[in-house]
Amino acid sequence: MARIQKALCAFCGSSMKVYGHRHLGPVNFLMIGILSFYLMFVVWDDFDLRALAIFVCLAFIGEVLTHLRWRLSLQCKSCGFDPVLYKKNNEAAAQKVKAHLEHRKMDPTSFLRPMPKLPVRKVKPGAEKSSKNTLNLQI
Ligand SMILES: [Zn+2]
Repeated sequence: MARIQKALCAFCGSSMKVYGHRHLGPVNFLMIGILSFYLMFVVWDDFDLRALAIFVCLAFIGEVLTHLRWRLSLQCKSCGFDPVLYKKNNEAAAQKVKAHLEHRKMDPTSFLRPMPKLPVRKVKPGAEKSSKNTLNLQI
């Protein structure tokens, strides 16, 4: 069963739902085993070791889909912030937030939704304008 947790976006602070499992659990593997056992009898009408190939394929597909579902649930629907991408490459995460907010400006379905509360960046006069550790959002 998918466990859904409530979380807050690390960038804009809006609430969102995140899937708690990033990999298949033992119950999922048991269900895949039962399904491959059933498919073995449907396809070959007897015990056959080729059912292991079905099990491996179904487990692989299930693992990929579970990880993809978890990964997509981490992205904020409000501002488009992706914390996994931010850990790897913060400039790419900033570009993704910019692109999401530009797309949001043009999308007529988001006109009535409230804008995300973006953090205000305080720049001291005379300080360097671009830093690698901060998101440079100038919209
Ligand atoms: Zn957000």
